[in-house]
Amino acid sequence: MSFYIYNTMSRDKDEFESNKPGKVGLYTCGPTVYNYAHIGNLRTYIFEDTLKKSLEYVGYKVKHVMNITDVGHLQSDSDEGEDKMALGAEREKKTVWEIAKYYEDAFFNDCKKLNIARPTVVCRATEHIEDMIKFIQKLEERGFTYQANGNVYFEIDKFEDYTKLANLSIDELEAGSRIEVDPNKKNPLDFVLWFTNSKFANQIMQWDSPWGRGFPGWHLECSAMSMKYLGEYIDIHCGGMDHVSVHHTNEIAQSEGAIGHKWVNYWMHGEFLVLDGGKMSKSSGDFLTVTRLEEEGFDALDYRYFCLQSRYRKQLVFSFKSLKDAENSYRRLKEKVAIIKSSIEADHSIDADKIKAYDDKFIKEITDDLNMANALTVLSEVIKSKDLNNAEKFELIKKFDKVLSLDLEKAELPKVEVNVDEDLVNRLIVERNEARASKNWARADEIRKELSDMNVELLDSKDGTTWKVK
Ligand code: AMP
Ligand code: ZN
Repeated sequence: MSFYIYNTMSRDKDEFESNKPGKVGLYTCGPTVYNYAHIGNLRTYIFEDTLKKSLEYVGYKVKHVMNITDVGHLQSDSDEGEDKMALGAEREKKTVWEIAKYYEDAFFNDCKKLNIARPTVVCRATEHIEDMIKFIQKLEERGFTYQANGNVYFEIDKFEDYTKLANLSIDELEAGSRIEVDPNKKNPLDFVLWFTNSKFANQIMQWDSPWGRGFPGWHLECSAMSMKYLGEYIDIHCGGMDHVSVHHTNEIAQSEGAIGHKWVNYWMHGEFLVLDGGKMSKSSGDFLTVTRLEEEGFDALDYRYFCLQSRYRKQLVFSFKSLKDAENSYRRLKEKVAIIKSSIEADHSIDADKIKAYDDKFIKEITDDLNMANALTVLSEVIKSKDLNNAEKFELIKKFDKVLSLDLEKAELPKVEVNVDEDLVNRLIVERNEARASKNWARADEIRKELSDMNVELLDSKDGTTWKVK
């Protein structure tokens, strides 16, 4: 069985081969915890979750590592502006530590609602400062760094093939990143590994280092922490599309600079979610969150379903109208599953060959660079199938849901609203009690049947008779 992955580095769909048989080291860039995650960010985490679960589905043991950026991410990815965490703290009149804790918890809460599994290792940048300092020292020893105005920079001209991931020229990269001219940089694309207080005198998060008291540059944490937990040979590294030209390009330069060999075999990038009217921006404060979707009456899983309907490598346009359409199809899907579940009969046996035939089809789609839309079509075929009994259908639905994570196993038929004439019920209960007192069992049974036809269930106890709607 082959697993195909679109690799940003080769610009091709490559057949996946892990470094160690049966095991995958997966690193995904995590959130900067200065605000809520928006549904665009969450689209990327949903894509990464389906990747991990698809690999597991076909038998790999996946070690998934994700960082939490709680220091060092400036407003622009190329070292300009203020620290996002400090801005968040100022906005909410809280400490940076409080901000980090609050938004990390909020992030994992959203993930839980979206059935995004928690990574094997979650690592916070602020808890790995020593590792980052050691990483810079390695780069220093290998001649990739210089100091200017108190900061330590990575010199990109010392690293051959700096542009290989983005596949652009240096000029194109410069034009794309709209960087302010920093007179301390030898090349405008050089990036900071360690800021000292020369940059922000009032930066609260600071640590001692061989270069002075300060804090790490953003790109560094992903190289230092991924290697700490996954070693120097990583199978897959993911993130959103915006990370290709700056963040991941810089991660590669500093990682391969430090270790002197190829670092990551497969680079995967999720395309953006865009709004009907344009881009969604966290810094402008105007963005959609899971909570906002819930306020509009949606369930978080409606959004997961919405994302699964399209390829992760295609831009996805969000509107409440299209989310509504997704909600309707997802509801119909759950209703069909509930009917199947409630119609399994005792003599339904499971034919392993039949199951395998459909399972193979599902695997073919998920291993085709995560074709979740087609995987959902295979699920529909299972539901409609004439040659599968309900037990077989439900078995396949439960299996597929290990990847889809749409809570299909829990699907229930919608509760029917029943209007009961309470006075009539109470009168009939009194009449039944009289019938029982006079040992007229036939009439008592008749009344129980009458009430049952009205969807009323009687509950007799030593204290008398109560009732409930069935
Ligand atoms: P951040 O918290 O800003 O570091 O972003 C978290 C993740 O979301 C990164 O992998 C980004 O590349 C990704 N991302 C940011 N904006 C979007 C968007 N509109 N659609 C999809 N992914 C996004
Ligand atoms: Zn990263």
